Amino acid sequence: MTENPRARVESFNLDHRAVVAPYVRLADRKELKSGGVVSKYDVRFTQPNVAHLDGEAVHSVEHMFAEFSRAHSDRIIDFSPMGCLTGFYLALDGDLEIAEVEALIERTLHDVLEAAEVPAANEVQCGWAAHHDLEKAKEAVRPFLAARAEWSTVMA
Ligand SMILES: [Zn+2]
Repeated sequence: MTENPRARVESFNLDHRAVVAPYVRLADRKELKSGGVVSKYDVRFTQPNVAHLDGEAVHSVEHMFAEFSRAHSDRIIDFSPMGCLTGFYLALDGDLEIAEVEALIERTLHDVLEAAEVPAANEVQCGWAAHHDLEKAKEAVRPFLAARAEWSTVMA
């Protein structure tokens, strides 16, 4: 494999063979022209190119994290699935301690495990309302939470 040219997207410059999932990593920090800072975290559930999450699980985790996390923090800008289905990006307002970010993720994912339904999983509020599965979402979250002590280890 040849060396890839430096990309404009931070994650395209990450060697996905070198990371060890699950982990939480500060992927990007952007100082806004309008003032303030956006911090973007790579919340990786599965090992790249080895395993990926189920599509319905990803969709339901996205809905639940988006809704539940905002009850714990007013810093949430966005929580979005990666197209490769190996994790999510969490964008936050400002510079936070990684421990604070991990605690926010942990609290929110505990809410997912306790959820009785996926919020906004209907045709009014979602673009693919049939594409949800609460139990699969919980199955995706359980091993990630169980590996909580390993989140800060990004590289092998
Ligand atoms: Zn949706």
